[in-house]
Amino acid sequence: MSGSNEPSDNDVDLYYLKVKEEAESSGYILNNDIEFTKGLLKSILINNARYGYGACPCRLALGERNDDLDIICPCDYRDPDLNEYGACYCALYISNEILTGKKKVQSIPERRPSFEDREKIKEEKEVQITGLSKPVWRCKVCGYLCARDKPPETCPICKVSSDRFEKFI
Ligand code: SF4
Repeated sequence: MSGSNEPSDNDVDLYYLKVKEEAESSGYILNNDIEFTKGLLKSILINNARYGYGACPCRLALGERNDDLDIICPCDYRDPDLNEYGACYCALYISNEILTGKKKVQSIPERRPSFEDREKIKEEKEVQITGLSKPVWRCKVCGYLCARDKPPETCPICKVSSDRFEKFI
């Protein structure tokens, strides 16, 4: 990365290869319009340099990691949007139907709740009471589940950090 927030073409190319490999190894498909895809990835790199985390390139980040955990790419909304529309909100990830032309990319409504609603959802999750001796944590990126006092520092499956886990039960 150069001195400014602007990543070099080489930074973007390397990041593209990394994200593509991760996607393919976990059953996801990156948009096959390579220039479009690299443009999105470049914006994620810029966000990473600006905020310290790779916020979604199509949304306005608040600049506080804790408030934007749900939109760190890949965001919490990727899978439901892929299921319903065949693409994530930015169309960085697409379904096989879109890839093979059986379905067209359409405009995708924003699924992310408002800031106030997100705060309410967090509070509701905090007060959930269970009879288990340990809470169950779920990685919001890959779905990995584990029962322990705290989430692991790094997801053993997809390698994201502990703050991408949510208390599942
Ligand atoms: S909408 Fe797509 S590009 Fe944006 S954060 Fe989610 S997965 Fe990443």
